[in-house]
Amino acid sequence: MGPDGAGEEKTVHGQGRMPDPPVVQIPCLVKGVGPGWHAVLYRLHGQLAARWPGYRAIGVKEKFGGLRVQVDVGERAAREAAAPLVRAAEAQAGALCEFCAGPGRVRTRNDTPAGWIKTVCDDCHRAWSAREIMIVSGAVRYSGRGGDGLAVAGVG
Ligand SMILES: [Zn+2]
Repeated sequence: MGPDGAGEEKTVHGQGRMPDPPVVQIPCLVKGVGPGWHAVLYRLHGQLAARWPGYRAIGVKEKFGGLRVQVDVGERAAREAAAPLVRAAEAQAGALCEFCAGPGRVRTRNDTPAGWIKTVCDDCHRAWSAREIMIVSGAVRYSGRGGDGLAVAGVG
């Protein structure tokens, strides 16, 4: 029977708010894609943060050769307002080499009909097809094979 004051447990912890968890925003996630797209991502971050300072980035990645960004800006109206900004950034990245930000387009390795696809410029396509360059943790890594002559990150 004991009316073990279940009601008493309702004690609400006053206004004490849980500390907000650190908010993950786009700059935290840029390493998910190559350096050629980082400027586009930082610009998008600036646009989003200006209007929704607490927005959250859920994902930044390359999919089917293109940039994919997922963010949470809050309620529906905000989502609808943010969507075109995100789409525009993805479209911009679609024209930029993921390695060097030069003019790029979606291609496969060695232009084979199937296979891994990436948005690349002509120079990086050649090096990527030859497996001389790859993207690791958001940076371009050069395979040793090409020797030092290969420090071609030279944009342009
Ligand atoms: Zn390139």
